[in-house]
Amino acid sequence: MVRLASPIGSLSAIVFVATACTAPALGQGLDIRTLFNLPGPGTGSAAAPAVAGGTQEWSGESGASNHPLMTAQAIRAAAANFRNCLAGLWPQAQRRGVTREIFEANVAGFTPDLRIMDLLDAQPEFTKSFWDYLDILVNDDRIQNGRAILAQHRATFDAVEKAYGVDRHFIAAIWGVESNYGTQIGERSVIRSTATLACIGRRQDYFREEFLSALEILARGDVKADHLKGSWAGAFGPTQFMPTSFKRYAVDFDGDGRRDVVDSVPDVVASTANNLKKDGWVSGQTWGYEVVVPKGFNFLLADRSRVMTVHEWERLGIRRAGGKAFPRAEDRAYLLVPSGAQGPGFLMLQNFRVIMKYNPAEAYALAIGHLADRLRGGEPFVQAWPRQERVLTRAERYELQQHLAARGYDVGEPDGRLGGKTRSALRHFQSSVGEVPDGFASAAVLERLRSR
Ligand code: CA
Repeated sequence: MVRLASPIGSLSAIVFVATACTAPALGQGLDIRTLFNLPGPGTGSAAAPAVAGGTQEWSGESGASNHPLMTAQAIRAAAANFRNCLAGLWPQAQRRGVTREIFEANVAGFTPDLRIMDLLDAQPEFTKSFWDYLDILVNDDRIQNGRAILAQHRATFDAVEKAYGVDRHFIAAIWGVESNYGTQIGERSVIRSTATLACIGRRQDYFREEFLSALEILARGDVKADHLKGSWAGAFGPTQFMPTSFKRYAVDFDGDGRRDVVDSVPDVVASTANNLKKDGWVSGQTWGYEVVVPKGFNFLLADRSRVMTVHEWERLGIRRAGGKAFPRAEDRAYLLVPSGAQGPGFLMLQNFRVIMKYNPAEAYALAIGHLADRLRGGEPFVQAWPRQERVLTRAERYELQQHLAARGYDVGEPDGRLGGKTRSALRHFQSSVGEVPDGFASAAVLERLRSR
């Protein structure tokens, strides 16, 4: 699944977003994508936020992105041209095997859902910390419900695990985080949402493909037309496939001839497993480990690009939290220290990167990995998060990036998001002033940048 990027709501943003995109539904009003404040649908695959309803009206205001296609005037003009735009897409739909009958039946008479333009450019000012996300996404309810799902569908999980080699607990965790086990899938018509985005706003090229792919799903009869509902960005089903992700990964596991990732549990579970497998899942390996980082450790090594074997990390003093041994010394991993030297560290294996392809936010992937562990009977993390630390606002993060750029560090285009580049720049700045270079964007480090 992969997800689209999207933004949203009140819950907010992630502290460390790798790239950009996506996130599923946490439920009425709580969109996981929103949760992660992912920028527009972006890169690869993606699913998108599920937002209930569609009852709210468009604000009528220009988008925060300042993109020329997101001004109120441009949105109104594109909306006025909506029918023509759709008509212009018919030849492409026809080439994909969509009949005129299906095209007419599904797009005739519908109007754009302009409320989506507000969601596309939503930029929450306040963001959540890593630990806030974990608190929200991995809790007792989600653990209990996940265990119930695993028990209820044991035979399906047995068969899927055997066929794809993907540990069932990760699939259940994705199901749980993306849609709260199918209870919060989103109520918007995927066809209408993707049609709107294909003809209006700043992501038209991206969503044209999603719209045409959604029509193909209907043309093939894989999913019932009135069940093709989901997030505003077009992600649908319990594990929130985007239409293009559906095309790449969906499988018919129950053998009824339809790849129904909405209503067939075997198809949902197997398609999700197939997605992970095709993205490079390593069978028999977990996502990573919580680790204890020793005092005096060189945090410049905590970088996604610095991959070493678990054994090599051990030689540098890294220990598994809780005192257990690492089961496989030769697995290759990078060190993530999401809340700096005061918080827990994690050694991340290949499968962590695979989960991030599903949704490119580290907090998302860590939540999936941890929920999978908890579903299997594992314990909570051992080390405490630095909960006293205040999370920087969007404006402050933007300011921090500008200060770093002004000092010659490469942060990319300042965007208020603290991705790998910004963290790397921050580590080097911290190192240059004699601080522990842990890359954590604290209020204190912003003060230091302001004062020098
Ligand atoms: Ca099927």
